[in-house]
Amino acid sequence: MKKYSIGIDLGGTKVLIALVNKETGDVVNWVKKKTKKDKGPKNIIRKIIEGIEELLLESTVSIDEISSIGVGAAGQVDRKNGILIAAANLDCYDLHIKDKIQEHYNLPVFLGNDVEIAAIGELKFGAAKGYNDVVCIFVGTGVGSAIVKSGEIIKGSTGTAGEIGHIIVDLNGRPCSCGAHGCLEAYASRSAIERRIEGALKKGRYSIILDYMENGKSITSHMINKAIEQGDELVTQCVDEAAEYLSGGIASIINFINPQLIILGGGLIDAVDYFYQKVIKKAKARSLPVPATKIEFRKAALGDFSGVVGAAFLER
Ligand SMILES: [Zn+2]
Repeated sequence: MKKYSIGIDLGGTKVLIALVNKETGDVVNWVKKKTKKDKGPKNIIRKIIEGIEELLLESTVSIDEISSIGVGAAGQVDRKNGILIAAANLDCYDLHIKDKIQEHYNLPVFLGNDVEIAAIGELKFGAAKGYNDVVCIFVGTGVGSAIVKSGEIIKGSTGTAGEIGHIIVDLNGRPCSCGAHGCLEAYASRSAIERRIEGALKKGRYSIILDYMENGKSITSHMINKAIEQGDELVTQCVDEAAEYLSGGIASIINFINPQLIILGGGLIDAVDYFYQKVIKKAKARSLPVPATKIEFRKAALGDFSGVVGAAFLER
């Protein structure tokens, strides 16, 4: 068996491309490209190919030692045909990623979604190693999840299983990017917290986060954490509210799926331990007594690399 694969994590603002040793899960080397400004299918494919070229140039591993290229994209995917059906953040629709990459490299190319690859990474070499029934939940711009049952990712009949962000937590609630109202994502994502903080600031509330936002900087997870550490009332209140909703969503998942383990990851979880601790405590308290006694929680362990490591293991 060839020892290496290329794993690609195609997110809304950046693409991370890595050469992964499949035996050890180690990232041999990696390249990161921003996709914020140059969106659209042509730019995205160009960045991926440029990234792979740089990766190969800087490495001592030759293309003959590479078994496949795996891509996980933030959007809806057609795994069978390797087509990115829709990725609004990248302004890409009906993009034939597999065919486009295979025009350049004579290697099998596999496509999955971004949450799926992060979950595979955690399952193979991260916090979920050794577990069979796991739900991985990632909190950042949105809230995404992947369900692992008997060691396999559940994809669902249309390939969209695991959309925890669109569980409805308030029938007449806030509008969501999906078009519905009251989805968990509109309450518990980093973007939702940002919107709450910004709304309150506009109404004249004070927060120390204003000092960190000088020169028009937008709110980041690190700013949120710093404000909480300073005992900031507004930011703490907004994060507490998000933790209430997320813990409710997770309690529902615990009752419904009864997993052994829940992995929490993503920018907000990585940066704000206060949020993580609050969410797991409340999720346990809100679950039914029997599943609540057994459930374990862990933070994702591979950080930014969980996606590329997982993508290296994508297969048909
Ligand atoms: Zn929604």
